[in-house]
Amino acid sequence: MSADLHRITTKRDFDRSLIEAIHEASPDGILVVDDQGMIVSHNRRLFEVFDIPLEALPGDHGGNLSGYSEQAPLALAMDRLEAPEAFLKRTQELYDDPSMEDHCELSLKDGRTLERFSKALWGNDKRYLGRVWFFRDITPRKEVERKLEVLARRDPLTGVANRRHFFELSGAEVARARRYGTSLSLAMLDLDHFKQINDRFGHSAGDRVLINFCNDVATLLRESDVLARLGGEEFVVLLPGSDPDGAFQLAERLRGHAEKAIVEEGESRIRYTVSAGVASLTPDDASIETVMGRADDALYAAKAAGRNCTRHEAPR
Ligand code: GH3
Ligand code: MG
Ligand code: MG
Repeated sequence: MSADLHRITTKRDFDRSLIEAIHEASPDGILVVDDQGMIVSHNRRLFEVFDIPLEALPGDHGGNLSGYSEQAPLALAMDRLEAPEAFLKRTQELYDDPSMEDHCELSLKDGRTLERFSKALWGNDKRYLGRVWFFRDITPRKEVERKLEVLARRDPLTGVANRRHFFELSGAEVARARRYGTSLSLAMLDLDHFKQINDRFGHSAGDRVLINFCNDVATLLRESDVLARLGGEEFVVLLPGSDPDGAFQLAERLRGHAEKAIVEEGESRIRYTVSAGVASLTPDDASIETVMGRADDALYAAKAAGRNCTRHEAPR
């Protein structure tokens, strides 16, 4: 064998062995299909990510489907998808236009998410050879992302919406109220003499009061109402569909509930009260902030009137 030929065969051996190693070691399911839709190669992981048992695939393939049509595995994979029609349409588009690359997420019926990446394969003469597909199970990553999204919207102490999420939700509610001409009100709530509660019972007892307050308020709200912690011992309740009177009545109910509540912390039985200010969206309000400003003024009036009471915004 000449030195050149030796080098070429060694290189071929090397390439084949490398491709085998990539197929076996890859965390992705890999499928290579030629320009006629016949399977050139695949790895075991391909059927694992789709949860397709090898016995479910027709033919005497012994686990290796090279040379078989991709139709049977494709049909079984589609069976596992939440949206098989969209998958088939996109797959056809990619086969119709080899120049297209693809990077998408696929939701499976069993709740998992796969990430798909696909790229065409080209010969030296620019001839289209086929396509390689990679499928990766990204369920753990998606779960972490989902949890982080939830955390980013919640106040860590009480679990209610945080300030940022309140503004996201209120933006949508203002738009909805304008579009359908419905009422939108809010109540600002501030616990009375909260500093004294902390001073007398300790900070963690104060925390327990805040948590109990939120839990109690939640039981009195409708599905569409939003309770958020703006900071410290200051809260807001957004009330879609509530007119000024309805909002006032609800704030009074929350106040009355707080007045009767007893929070047990160790040996202590803590009582607390809350003051409230109520305001409603008008056509002149550019955003929820101006409504909050008026509700804040009303809250201040409630504090000035001796606390543990509710006040409407001033008539204009
Ligand atoms: P007012 O009736 O005028 O509202 O009096 P206040 O004492 O409630 O109001 P002030 O603003 O003077 O004090 C608020 C207190 O709330 C002071 C602060 O230490 C306490 N606070 C803020 N955030 C937290 C928290 O997360 N946990 C606890 N335990 N206390 C908090
Ligand atoms: Mg206070
Ligand atoms: Mg305050």
